[in-house]
Amino acid sequence: VSLAKALKSVSGFSQHKNELRSYISVGTSDRREARSWRIVAEIAQKAEYIWMDGQEGLKGIRFNEMRTKTKCIQKPLPIGSLDFPEWSFDGSSTGQQEIGNNSDCILKPVFTCPDPIRGGNSVLVLCEVLTPEGNPHRTNKRRLLADTLTEDIIAQDTWFGFEQEYTMFGRDGHPYGWPRAGYPAPQGPFYCGVGLESAYGRQFVEAHFDACVKAGLKISGINAEVMPGQWEFQIGPAGPLEMGDQVMIARYLLHRLGEDFGVICTFDPKPVPGDWNGAGAHTNFSTAAMRADGGMDAILRAIDRLALKHPEHVALYGPGNDRRLTKTHETASLRTFKSGVADRGASVRIPLPVAVANKGFLEDRRPAANVDPYVVARLLIQTTLLP
Ligand code: ADP
Ligand code: MN
Ligand code: MN
Ligand code: MN
Ligand code: MN
Repeated sequence: VSLAKALKSVSGFSQHKNELRSYISVGTSDRREARSWRIVAEIAQKAEYIWMDGQEGLKGIRFNEMRTKTKCIQKPLPIGSLDFPEWSFDGSSTGQQEIGNNSDCILKPVFTCPDPIRGGNSVLVLCEVLTPEGNPHRTNKRRLLADTLTEDIIAQDTWFGFEQEYTMFGRDGHPYGWPRAGYPAPQGPFYCGVGLESAYGRQFVEAHFDACVKAGLKISGINAEVMPGQWEFQIGPAGPLEMGDQVMIARYLLHRLGEDFGVICTFDPKPVPGDWNGAGAHTNFSTAAMRADGGMDAILRAIDRLALKHPEHVALYGPGNDRRLTKTHETASLRTFKSGVADRGASVRIPLPVAVANKGFLEDRRPAANVDPYVVARLLIQTTLLP
């Protein structure tokens, strides 16, 4: 009876009321005990709090990574709600605070979606990191992006399509599916490849694709990449914060599923030196004006502005990007800006269908796979749309 009283205070309990009544009237005390635990388990909610750490480049083959911990919530909240409580963590263990007596950082929920791995009412809770004083932490670039989204910018209805490339490694740090000794065949058959000899690790890739769909992300496709064991998924088109949030969740899902599949995913811009493609995060960008008839004028104006700010952009487009932007392997130079129609050796490309339609979007090919998506979105907006 005291359990029933306790449960009454738990929201979501009402749906179990009848069940509870029936067992109280027939059960022995032992069976009641067992049953009561089952009911609690059904209504409690597992919330996975996810944030970006401060240890860029310090973790071997993994870069710029997510951290995560689970909160069990006795009064479940609707998935999608932002009423999940703030939480805290030890910033001295994630490269986000000095070790000392004030090392807590605050987790502020900003986006939630279904947890496709746990299922049920389980939820993924993406968080911004705040300092103990409640200010945005220096690693929190999401807040900087949010601050640029003035009414005027919002009215221009910016869309982003983020092509996230990543490279799979085995537990041993060896590229996934590569022969134990020596190398696979030279690059050529792998991009968009199919067949055991061309597509390495598709089971894992499909599981990740499924998870993104079940989480409700705007994932727009996947493909095998030029280097064997390297793949891509795309998030978008989506608004700037929406794009960033969904990319972060999709990255979390890569790492989390990798635990089950024995796969390590890295966003290192050049995971294997030599004649192997690096990994980028081409960012497709448009405004309402670019998408309207004759939008090519707005696209060309934006590209002119991007040309003037090239050094500022590449400096923030991901650590180690200098190993990737070498004018080889479908990249432009780190030093000089170049644009062109259908040119995959350009810094910024106008896709062929866009040139034909004379409207659409541009593709910034410079960001590395380990770029902070909120930073790319902010720079594209600041450079092309601010007066
Ligand atoms: P690529 O040919 O460079 O490999 P992808 O098909 O991988 O291109 O990615 C293109 C991305 O651009 C997709 O995520 C798509 O949703 C997105 N996209 C399409 N139209 C727009 C638009 N108008 N503005 C921004 N992004 C867009
Ligand atoms: Mn502890
Ligand atoms: Mn692509
Ligand atoms: Mn690609
Ligand atoms: Mn591309």
